[in-house]
Amino acid sequence: MSDKNIAILGAGESGVGAALLAQARGYTVFVSDSGRIKAACKQELLTNSIPFEEGGHSEEKILTAALVVKSPGISDTAAIIRKVAAAGLEIISEIEFAFRHTNKPVIGITGSNGKTTTTLLIHHLLTTAGYRAALAGNVGSSLARHVLADVADVLVVELSSFQLDGIVRFRPRIAVLLNITPDHLDRYDNDFEKYARSKLRICKNMTAEDLLVYNLEDAELARRRNSLPGHPVVRELSLTKATAIRRVDGDLVFDQAGEKTVINKKYLPLPGAHNQLNMLAAITVALTYGIGTEVIIKALSSFANHPHRLEYITEIKGVAFYNDSKATNVEAVYYALGSFDQPIVWIAGGQDKGNDYTLIKGLVAEKVKAMVCLGLDNAKLIDTFKDTVPEIAETQHAGEAAAMAYNYASAADVVVLSPACASFDLFENYAQRGDMFKEAVLNLKKKVA
Ligand code: ADP
Repeated sequence: MSDKNIAILGAGESGVGAALLAQARGYTVFVSDSGRIKAACKQELLTNSIPFEEGGHSEEKILTAALVVKSPGISDTAAIIRKVAAAGLEIISEIEFAFRHTNKPVIGITGSNGKTTTTLLIHHLLTTAGYRAALAGNVGSSLARHVLADVADVLVVELSSFQLDGIVRFRPRIAVLLNITPDHLDRYDNDFEKYARSKLRICKNMTAEDLLVYNLEDAELARRRNSLPGHPVVRELSLTKATAIRRVDGDLVFDQAGEKTVINKKYLPLPGAHNQLNMLAAITVALTYGIGTEVIIKALSSFANHPHRLEYITEIKGVAFYNDSKATNVEAVYYALGSFDQPIVWIAGGQDKGNDYTLIKGLVAEKVKAMVCLGLDNAKLIDTFKDTVPEIAETQHAGEAAAMAYNYASAADVVVLSPACASFDLFENYAQRGDMFKEAVLNLKKKVA
């Protein structure tokens, strides 16, 4: 066994990125995927003469490696991972591997909700200010690929709990911890504590030279404030508490290094309290980089979020339609419903991930006038809300959902698709669900006009 033998499990974006970086750093690489490898990924491995297999794992090749890099999609309970662990091999994530091969500063963003939005915001603020910033992790391409390209001054990385599970020395110079609410518990033995500890790993190697941007508005983070792993300088933000970074009358206020910065609400590009938190976090990072107020305002004015995140679609006779297909847990729905003052027709449902709807029952009672369930099995939703919401219908078609919702709505109401569930019962993924809904709404508009 050579120290330079590396086995990479999973051949998606992170696996291929890790393989390319490993090859460039002189490792002997073997990539193994138990399923089918996507054509583009396979082509890249072939082009670079990286040995790989698919449809199964050759144990003799994997268990003789010195280091194993595991893709975030592979569970710790997978048979091959158990065998690798039993053989005493080091198993790390692609993030950890990439980190070991760069000395560029890393800004890491994690949380249950808001990661992509906040990562994009930070990246946009930095690039608008002239930094060469890489957009890496779940959004953009893998960190390993950026480390290999080596053209960025700073690496902005969206981190899932699965990626954080496989870190050892990974140490962001700035970390953003947005919130911890139940999600993906199936991968954590249905144990919320395990999931929470995994998110908190982001700061375990941080020192007094590093900065942790920390959302005190989140109950779980507030509870854990004094028992964080690592020793970062913590910069707290909130919407309602007297933190140095906070919201005042809808404006964002930053008391940092003896200076006060105020970003007036008229410059904020994204709706809702959740996005105020995301913007507080992102602007804190920008200020830490010395970016001035004018540049921040300029960057905010040109910011475009990814679709499917409380995305405005159009208006039909005074009824505004929003696509929040990425809201695949209850907490995201809580913020979506809270973003509107108007009566709401709520489209929800899909594949339930063990949701506890009690968190939003009060809000639903207050705001939702009618509900359309868009899922294969809507029994739990209907059962939960039948005494709360006056009108409930169900369908298995995005087009029908849009039409039913429109029928329930009056001028000045809003219709929002914010499912609280995964999409895999009826759709390929959340993006397809959102796209089909948008298309249905636009067709409806043509018909109605
Ligand atoms: P992630 O990458 O963590 O899934 P996204 O930015 O893609 O986060 O947003 C996912 C969903 O969560 C969307 O429905 C969005 O409106 C909602 N959301 C965004 N930021 C937050 C936040 N800070 N708290 C709660 N929900 C949020």
